[in-house]
Amino acid sequence: MSHEGIRIVSAEQAARDAGQEAVKLPTEAVTPARIRVKKTEGTGMEIDWKDGHTSAWNFAWLRNACPCATCHDEREKSGRIPGEPKPKAQTLLMMYEAPPRPVEVTPVGKYALKFKWNDGHETGIYSWEYLRRVCRCDACLAKGSME
Ligand SMILES: [Zn+2]
Ligand SMILES: [Zn+2]
Repeated sequence: MSHEGIRIVSAEQAARDAGQEAVKLPTEAVTPARIRVKKTEGTGMEIDWKDGHTSAWNFAWLRNACPCATCHDEREKSGRIPGEPKPKAQTLLMMYEAPPRPVEVTPVGKYALKFKWNDGHETGIYSWEYLRRVCRCDACLAKGSME
């Protein structure tokens, strides 16, 4: 497997991907205090941040928000925002696909998590900065929709 797709999203890029201004987030906001990956349940991941904020994502959302170069470019081209699923082609033969779930989640240094997904994709490195920017909690979603 080629590793060309691997990239770490910079703070500026993370902000842009999340449709936000590149205002620097406080260190406590991008430092996880506790991470729960609900791999066995297959539901999703939760992060408690040092600033007291909690973020939660389901695995399908995280898979569709993969920050690797390949997925990023593909989203740009098709105009999808991070987390938005690919439109399903209307075909006669409907294939059942297993819902996305990670087979492996490994820390990358002190700044990111690498997900290996059940579809074999493993080039996505999710930085704390990126994850905090794409927080799906009610407060953050409300903030985003005001813009
Ligand atoms: Zn990807
Ligand atoms: Zn939030």
